[in-house]
Amino acid sequence: ALLLENKVAVISGAASARGIGLTTARKFAQQGAKVVILDLDAQAAADAAASIGPQHLGLACNVADKDACVKAAAAVFAAFGRIDILINNAGITQAIKTLEIDATSWDRILDVNLRGVLYLSQAVIPYMQEQRAGAIACMSSVSAQRGGGILGGAHYSAAKAGVLGLAKAMAREFGPDGIRVNCVTPGLILTDINAGKISEEKMVEIVGGIPLNRPGSVDDVAGAYLFLSSDLSSYITGAVIDVNGGMLI
Ligand code: NAD
Repeated sequence: ALLLENKVAVISGAASARGIGLTTARKFAQQGAKVVILDLDAQAAADAAASIGPQHLGLACNVADKDACVKAAAAVFAAFGRIDILINNAGITQAIKTLEIDATSWDRILDVNLRGVLYLSQAVIPYMQEQRAGAIACMSSVSAQRGGGILGGAHYSAAKAGVLGLAKAMAREFGPDGIRVNCVTPGLILTDINAGKISEEKMVEIVGGIPLNRPGSVDDVAGAYLFLSSDLSSYITGAVIDVNGGMLI
């Protein structure tokens, strides 16, 4: 049997061709889910959904905009009549020194990576409460655990560490409603977010510190999302799954 038969899955930040989100959407569809891709650009989201198959949906949604999240969740419910899975995947990063972070750059990074997780979860959870079931997976990062070290600045580390606390708080609060909330903490995954931004020298250094001796792929992360979204993880909530090749051992 397929792992996500008849499930409706909403995935934020999933229009980027080489990104973790779209790879996850494809994997979920292969497991029988109907997927809804949310991303900044309506056309890009629609094209990404169409590239998976006709029964999937792509919608514009800036996760940092509460009204946009509420509208998107309502549109998903109108289209499919339920929401089983939410993947809070949207995120942005910025390489910057701590002393150079100003209010604008702090707000930009925190708004998408942390506030966005709150807003989209707030928009989707009422539907899950009504169903008395739901699975939410949130994107954190190894940057939260080791204070950066790859690309993001301190604001990115702070935002992704905030995601861990927010997810655990939601896991505690909504567990009695049958809703599970977990996080993934990927290490270095090759996507557009870091493409061309890491020198060959730095790459050799990073990979040298990874016991599995390679950077991660988008599939590696999508596999963890799939596990956390399916009944294979039915008794797991408030957990954090490292997807980092052993970087923190
Ligand atoms: P990516 O840039 O390919 O994908 C991010 C997607 O989020 C893009 O499609 C972008 O348009 C979308 N997005 C940005 N702001 C948004 C907003 N306000 N509302 C909705 N969508 C928005 O990068 P990726 O590597 O696939 O990143 C996915 C997630 O994984 C991010 O949260 C990132 O921080 C996290 N992450 C990535 C790595 C890595 O090494 N690539 C490691 C740890 C965590």
